[in-house]
Parts: sequence; structure tokens; C-alpha cells
Amino acid sequence: MAVQVRKVAQDTYLLDCGLDPFFSMSNIAYFLDDDLPALIDPGSGTAAAELLDGAGQQGIDLKRLSYIVPTHIHLDHGGGAGYLALRLPGTTVVLHPKGAAHLTDTSALVRGARLIFGDDFEKSLGAVIPVPKDRVHVVRDGEIIRLGKRELKVVFSPGHAAHHIALFDSLTKGLFCGDALGFLTDSMPDVPFPVGLSPFDPRAYAQTIDKLASLHPEVIFYAHHGPRTEVAQLIGKVKEVCLAFDEIIHQGIAAGEDDRQISQRILDYSSALAQQAELPVFARVGISGYIQYYRNHPSGS
Ligand SMILES: [Zn+2]
Repeated sequence: MAVQVRKVAQDTYLLDCGLDPFFSMSNIAYFLDDDLPALIDPGSGTAAAELLDGAGQQGIDLKRLSYIVPTHIHLDHGGGAGYLALRLPGTTVVLHPKGAAHLTDTSALVRGARLIFGDDFEKSLGAVIPVPKDRVHVVRDGEIIRLGKRELKVVFSPGHAAHHIALFDSLTKGLFCGDALGFLTDSMPDVPFPVGLSPFDPRAYAQTIDKLASLHPEVIFYAHHGPRTEVAQLIGKVKEVCLAFDEIIHQGIAAGEDDRQISQRILDYSSALAQQAELPVFARVGISGYIQYYRNHPSGS
């Protein structure tokens, strides 16, 4: 699919590579034009290759790129970082320390991808090419990355993944939230759905929501949906859904229910919330990490 390019704020471009083949979610990267341009969430290896070829035809010259910034290393966000680093030798890949470990040695990442997506996942998601260690910049929480007229503040945002980072942009007052504030889709545009593939930490996820809210962004740049300005409403909603999931799972575990029964309760709740019978695929698969966490931490420890 051709890359769609859309200007969404001053010197900020949304690059849409179409739907993810497994979860039917939009694959979105953001290009921040500046003296030292940055690409946030390059996507899978397949998406990154499409970006490199397709964005240039629409006026986005990724050959000028300085920084590649995956919010986390799940393949739909950071799987293509190594491919881009290889093709764009002047770039630096910005990563959380834990993410850096798994993108410089990708063996565990590839093993996990085979378990989730199957042995032939590279056919659709592309090869996971390691990033050379000397091309990685490991960040700390609160670090400022200066691009020129704008600064990106790195915000550690664990929960969805322990190595997740979000970026607050001084120019747009926007927050690039990765998967830390739920998934929004065209079919559920007002219900950010917390997705918890294992290992997932719902308590850290809820704390991260509060931490990101305290930055008071004026716009949220969702990784699978695009920019939204109803910030308080959407953050309030994702928190509400998280608390409801917590309660449903605790009640189910206390009643001795199995994972299938608890999942069904969450799906019933979510369907009612989304006011539709059919939930997106990720809503069905994204509950497992939630339940597993609370089975492993029954006393709330
Ligand atoms: Zn993710």
C-alpha cells in the first residue's frame, strides 16, 4: 500500500502505512521536521521499507533523518528500526535501556514474535535487523532531545511494556504516546482500549496514565490512530476502562473463574462501552496480559 502523508501540526507529518496485517490497526509513524529531523515509531520492517520508498515521493525526505525513535520495541513500532538504521547511516536510534538491549541483540524479540505471529512472521512484518550498538542512544527519564526549534522530552511510561517511552514535544505541546494511553481505532474512536499483551503491568500502566496527564498535552498523537485534541476526555476514559478491567478481573479471580470466563466478562463490558457487537481483533487478544498479571499478583502485591 502507498504511504499516505498528512501534515498534522507545525512541521509535524503523519505517515500512514496502512493496516497492520495481524490486528488490522493503522501503522502510523510521525516525521518531525527540524534541523535534526526525527521519525517516531518507524513501524515494522515492512512498514519501514514502505516509508523509505514511499514518503520521498510525497515530499518527506527521510534521508535527512537524524533520529529514529521507537516508543517501544514491539514489532509494529520498532521492528523496522534496524532496517532504517542500515539504510540511513547518519541516523541514531533512541531507546530506553531495556529496549536497547533487545534491539541490539534481537534473538529474544524474534523468539517472541514467532510465538505470537508464527514462524513465518517476517513475510508480513519484515525482517528484524539488529541495530548496531554504536548507533543507539540510550535515554534516561526526563532527558531532553534537541532537534532545533523543538525539544522532545523523554518520559518513561511503563505498563504496556517495561521499556516504553513517550515523547512530549515543546513545539506542538503534543504527546507522542505510543501504546501508553490505549488504542484508538476508527471503529472505537472515543474509547481508548488498554491492550495488555503479556508481560503487561496494569498498575504501572495506570500510574503512567497519570504521569502523562500531568504533562498537560494539548494534543495526543496516537500511534495507531492519529492526533486528537480531546485530551482530558480521552485520558479520563482510558483510566475509567483500566479501573473497570481491574475490578472485573479481581471479581472473576475471587469467584474462581477461568481465563476464558473472565475474558468474556471483559468483552461484554467492552462491547457495551463501544456500543457495537464486534470488537477489533486486538481487543480480543489484548486481555491475556491483564489476567496473567493479577493471577501472578493475587494479593495486590
Ligand atoms: Zn505495543
